Amino acid sequence: MRILVTGAAGFLGSHLCDRLLAEGHTVVGMDNFITGKPENLAHLANHERFSFIRHDVSAYIFVPGRLDGVMHLASPASPNPASPMGYTNLPIQTMKAGALGTHNTLGVALANKARYLLASTSEIYGDPLQHPQREDYWGHVNPIGPRSVYDEAKRFAEALTMAYHRFHSVNTSIVRIFNTYGPRMHIDDGRVVPNFISQALKGEALTIYGDGRQTRSFCYVDDLIEGIYRLMMSAEHNPVNIGNDVETDMNEFAEIINRLTGNSAGVVRLEDRRGEGDPQRRQPDIARARAVLNWEPRVALEDGLGRTIQFFKEVLENR
Ligand code: NAD
Ligand code: UDP
Repeated sequence: MRILVTGAAGFLGSHLCDRLLAEGHTVVGMDNFITGKPENLAHLANHERFSFIRHDVSAYIFVPGRLDGVMHLASPASPNPASPMGYTNLPIQTMKAGALGTHNTLGVALANKARYLLASTSEIYGDPLQHPQREDYWGHVNPIGPRSVYDEAKRFAEALTMAYHRFHSVNTSIVRIFNTYGPRMHIDDGRVVPNFISQALKGEALTIYGDGRQTRSFCYVDDLIEGIYRLMMSAEHNPVNIGNDVETDMNEFAEIINRLTGNSAGVVRLEDRRGEGDPQRRQPDIARARAVLNWEPRVALEDGLGRTIQFFKEVLENR
């Protein structure tokens, strides 16, 4: 297949490009580097089946030649207002990537009769009242809170994707991605994994927001990419959660990072982010992915974190 990947220079997009190329596909990467980095794609510069277009997906997209697939990952993705890469600091760009970018990429899929995949998110469930979250849960989202620029853009993107499927018969799919971590995460993007690991490697106390009892379920990037790849190659149109269903609270997560890095500086408690809509519990129900894609996560948290710590060590050494 010849596949367009938007957000190709980002954490997940660059791993996805690697996987598609390894499977023998031809990849056209697209990115405007708003939160991604050219270094994530540097190793593909001379790959004969890879090409790259620097472009903002919010503007009309033209890709020469036929496409068999379109995978739309372009969007800022960190909720942390302390980071310049956080989507609350890029509110209009985030809404445009989710809304106009989804419209433009669906148009490309329609024109090419291509299979389409939207990278959606567990954030469409908001601060969930149902636990774990199943795909038939409609969510609990504040439409005007700080996170709404991301959550509502992704909800709009899902609605638009289903509209193109129902009205134009586009062969669409929607993956709801739960917290994913691994090499090539941006060290400064403010998400908990880069924050904790870089603090630990510098011998600093880990910054826990609030009482640390809020939970997340962390999926290693290779598992996530496997799930996305299977979904893209399937005939499924309904949203599918992809994530690891092992739930961890932030106190326990900080302890694990300090233990794996040998950091003795402990933790420091900062003000909680509940007022900004920080979800208190998050865990995917992955029964649908198991049934439809025969997929499940394989990498244990400490193994994946070991590989990620190694990556961040190298990043810090080269700074
Ligand atoms: P990332 O910031 O590393 O990658 C996003 C990429 O999109 C960046 O390279 C950025 O430059 C690019 N981009 C943003 N706006 C663009 C625009 N208008 N035009 C062109 N390129 C643009 O983040 P990520 O973690 O790799 O996230 C990728 C996708 O997965 C996003 O859609 C995100 O919402 C989704 N997602 C990620 C996670 C996660 O845990 N990593 C969880 C849920 C959903
Ligand atoms: N968090 C934290 N300290 C940090 C960064 C994040 O305690 O330095 C918490 C944050 O409050 C949230 C969880 O870690 O409850 C996951 O945050 P992240 O930014 O990684 O992504 P989210 O899952 O909220 O989108």
